[in-house]
Amino acid sequence: MLSSIINTIDNTIEHYSRSNDSKDFYRKPLIKVISAENKKIIDLKRIVSPKHLLPKDILNDAKSIISFFIPFTNEIVKSNIAGKMASRKWALAYIKTNDLINNISNEVESLMKKNGFSTGKIPATHNFDKEKLISNWSHRHIAYLAGIGTFGINNMLITEFGCCGRLGTIITNYEFSHYEDIKIKEKCLYKINGSCGVCQNKCIMNAYEGSIFNRKKCYEICLKSAKYYKSIGYADVCGKCLVGLPCSIKDPSINT
Ligand code: SF4
Ligand code: SF4
Repeated sequence: MLSSIINTIDNTIEHYSRSNDSKDFYRKPLIKVISAENKKIIDLKRIVSPKHLLPKDILNDAKSIISFFIPFTNEIVKSNIAGKMASRKWALAYIKTNDLINNISNEVESLMKKNGFSTGKIPATHNFDKEKLISNWSHRHIAYLAGIGTFGINNMLITEFGCCGRLGTIITNYEFSHYEDIKIKEKCLYKINGSCGVCQNKCIMNAYEGSIFNRKKCYEICLKSAKYYKSIGYADVCGKCLVGLPCSIKDPSINT
């Protein structure tokens, strides 16, 4: 079943790229599964928010979680380095990828249905508390638990293909015969040896205040971007603290 899921995700990305004006937006996705009963998931109510959902809140007989990361190409990443506003390409990639993630969820749902299983779908974004700006489902934390990457000090997940890209999650009542024992090596250079730290200095809003992240400052520029790009969709993005970094498109810890 895992190989059919991987093929479905790969094919959906390929098909979407060809038919939706997003050619050369994506690199090969990373896909992992974890048990919906993984004991660490409940900790997300403490780590992320007491309102963070559990897999069974989304699908009452949930058995597994499929977590995926769709890395952007260097072209999309480079486009966002200059200027204070997110680049048009970056904004478009965000809008398109939200749509792509919904397509992936629908295709995987069809595959599972054909095989007699159900899925619970989660939107790519905009599932957050508008006051606290905290999501009730953190794709990032789930991807971390699934072993897709480790957190950088910019709060992004650094994968073997870097941190620029988008994450998605699908829940299913299919139980895999085996779940990997996750032991993932730290990837953020600052966390490894105190070096780097480039990401936080790139923030155009000074949203990194010591160990506190000021979500409101960050969201302010994201809303400006949404207004600026309203002719192409809803792009409440910035991403300046993700681009032009040693961890933007690759694992920076490879030679450490
Ligand atoms: S830019 Fe450096 S310090 Fe920031 S997340 Fe990446 S590796 Fe870590
Ligand atoms: S997304 Fe933009 S405003 Fe938010 S932390 Fe990163 S650089 Fe700062």
